[in-house]
Amino acid sequence: MASNRNGGRSLIIIMSPEAAPGDQERVLERLRSGGAEAEVSTLAGRDLVVAADDAGAVPPLAWEAFPGVERAVVLNAPFRFVSRDYQAGRTVVEVGGVQIGAGGFTVIAGPCAVESREQLFAAAAAVQAAGASILRGDAFKPRTSPYSFQGLGRAGLDLLVEARERFGLPFVAEVVDPRDVEQVAGCADLIRIGSRNMSNFTLLAEAGRQPRPVMLKRGFTATIEEWLDAAEYIYKEGNSHIVLCERGIRTFEPQTRNTLDISAVPVAQALSHLPVMVDPSHSSGRRDLVAPLTLAALAVGADGVMVDVHPAPETALVDGAQALPPEEFASLMRRVRSLAAAL
Ligand code: PEP
Ligand code: MN
Repeated sequence: MASNRNGGRSLIIIMSPEAAPGDQERVLERLRSGGAEAEVSTLAGRDLVVAADDAGAVPPLAWEAFPGVERAVVLNAPFRFVSRDYQAGRTVVEVGGVQIGAGGFTVIAGPCAVESREQLFAAAAAVQAAGASILRGDAFKPRTSPYSFQGLGRAGLDLLVEARERFGLPFVAEVVDPRDVEQVAGCADLIRIGSRNMSNFTLLAEAGRQPRPVMLKRGFTATIEEWLDAAEYIYKEGNSHIVLCERGIRTFEPQTRNTLDISAVPVAQALSHLPVMVDPSHSSGRRDLVAPLTLAALAVGADGVMVDVHPAPETALVDGAQALPPEEFASLMRRVRSLAAAL
């Protein structure tokens, strides 16, 4: 993974919208004359001068005193725009009218995969009645075996759009192929990049070039820094609406499908301004652990959870062992509400 372990120090100079022609060149010239490598980029309509400073070539000047400069930020991590140094205040991501990261605990729920209209609608009705605010359901599934059910594709997306209209819930769906980003983003309120694709840099960049918010799951062998580097790939292309999702990492422990790295939540929140959610279903792979891990996520300060719910888990085509039946999900939501009130 291409993260820079030799420091990754950099300087970002944010030009003022009122900068005069020539202001930017003056900054660039000053940086380059000291031997620093600097380039100009544009993010959210703002011009930035970005200089890598691994070699300590950036002179410690009062950059804010240069004409046309609004703010200068020194960053000590390889990731830049997603870091707390770049933005001190927390990012709030809006998903079809639902806010993630605004201080509440957002619950996303629904089936792992869309299997049929009956299955999706039964799940959507149940999670809506229990109080979830976003529906999940995938039309494209990244499966470990090429012989496993791969999802309904376009037909699955159409069903999700129907479910949104019928139940009034925005939805998240996974995109596994850069060629499908436009299609999935054209339907979903939040597009998701899964654990297996966290380092698919073409997919990350494609997701960064479209306007829908993106949920980025942590790769199951990725460090927190590599995860944030992956988020940087999205942000750098101009999309700042990113939700991180911890989903467990692969360890030597076979009792659970993965090991939920609960400490990754406060660590990622300290390093980054992006909201951090938890997937208790994929991290444990076990229905009996979904409730305790959800409550742990709430207690540790996560911005929400994404939970697998299936109307008849024993018949699920994907991940039935970890899906909650509707009544268990409703009971979990009651416990979430009382713990949230106690906190
Ligand atoms: C999922 O959420 O359905 C999924 C495939 O999860 P992950 O990418 O975390 O394995
Ligand atoms: Mn799944």
